[in-house]
Amino acid sequence: MKLHEYQARALLQRYGVPVTGGGVATTPTEARQIAEQVGSRVVVKAQVFVGGRGKAGGVKLAADPNEAEAVANQILGMDIKGLTVEKVLVAEAISYQKEIYLSAILDRSSKRVMMIASSEGGVEIEEVAHTNPNAIIKVAAHPTLGLLDYQAREIAFGIGLSDSKQVRQFTQIANAVYRTFVGSDASLVEINPLVIRDDGNLQALDSKVQIDDSALFRHKDLADLRDTSDEPPAEQKARAADISFIKLDGNIGCMVNGAGLAMATMDVVKLYGGEPANFLDIGGGAGKDKVKTALEIILSDPNVKVVLINIFGGITRVDEVAKGIVAALEEVPTDVPMVARLVGTNEEAGREILAQSRLIPANTLAEGAQQAVAAAQGR
Ligand code: GDP
Ligand code: MN
Repeated sequence: MKLHEYQARALLQRYGVPVTGGGVATTPTEARQIAEQVGSRVVVKAQVFVGGRGKAGGVKLAADPNEAEAVANQILGMDIKGLTVEKVLVAEAISYQKEIYLSAILDRSSKRVMMIASSEGGVEIEEVAHTNPNAIIKVAAHPTLGLLDYQAREIAFGIGLSDSKQVRQFTQIANAVYRTFVGSDASLVEINPLVIRDDGNLQALDSKVQIDDSALFRHKDLADLRDTSDEPPAEQKARAADISFIKLDGNIGCMVNGAGLAMATMDVVKLYGGEPANFLDIGGGAGKDKVKTALEIILSDPNVKVVLINIFGGITRVDEVAKGIVAALEEVPTDVPMVARLVGTNEEAGREILAQSRLIPANTLAEGAQQAVAAAQGR
């Protein structure tokens, strides 16, 4: 789950990262009021989930409250890469001499929290990785002791800081970023740019935080921050039904129980020359209603030419799944062909139910995938 910038900076501030003063506004009048409170030049920033808002015209400086109101009026309602701006952050604008990049991610190969920093802040890190990989410093935090001071200093020196006060501020900020990452079960914490102000102090100007969805149950305060305004309806529906769903670009809709089996199913589809339209895991023990919802989600994608259902009944009962499919087909009539491979608990009962329907039965996953690929290719 992504946090908006105004939420991310509040979280970082709680962990001790110095951020600029300001607040979030949904109307130009509110923007003026915040600018009055800030009492200096402000920057007005669109709160939408895209990078490069600056270049797209979604970040503008305003000299006084009047101008802040006018600029907010321009940005609110603006379309940035397909998203409508509903909120703006109005924050103290500061003058700075240098932009730095700093982030924490989970590095799967070293199985540690990786701190990444670059002296080339203000641009996307992927771009720096491409044009000037030597400017990027990576340090893996200690697995139990966390980010140690000497490690944070190593990063500071690595990005060219030498002033002792700045090095000290940087190590504190890097530590706060690390603690934000671990403390909120994040998958990404990024400050870009972290700037060196004209007065020499370090301050975060833009930040991005993503929380691991699987950990949200233990962060009720963060879960409540979710903004679904730009989430596709299929994803909202999947989340509400507790179905793991990821839309992909192919035309073979997949309904599977279990994440591992779902991935294996996609692999086998690709092996036979097909392209999955989605990843979908209905989870263990899914009943009729969940199966019906899953099928509705798959069929809502106009690219889907065929649906491949692969169920391995353990806790999940095959007859329940079969009932769900039949119920879904009654309510969402479709002529999309469907291939079903159902094995395991109550398999016979399930097959009997489906024998009355127009589903194409398959005995093995290989057979099912081949049939689905053939149907998708119009054979
Ligand atoms: P992004 O384009 O979505 O990454 O948004 P940013 O928050 O990084 O803002 C883009 C650019 O706006 C920054 O790189 C700065 O050049 C400028 N900017 C943002 N805040 C300030 C500020 O407080 N002072 C000044 N001088 N420029 C700012
Ligand atoms: Mn930025």
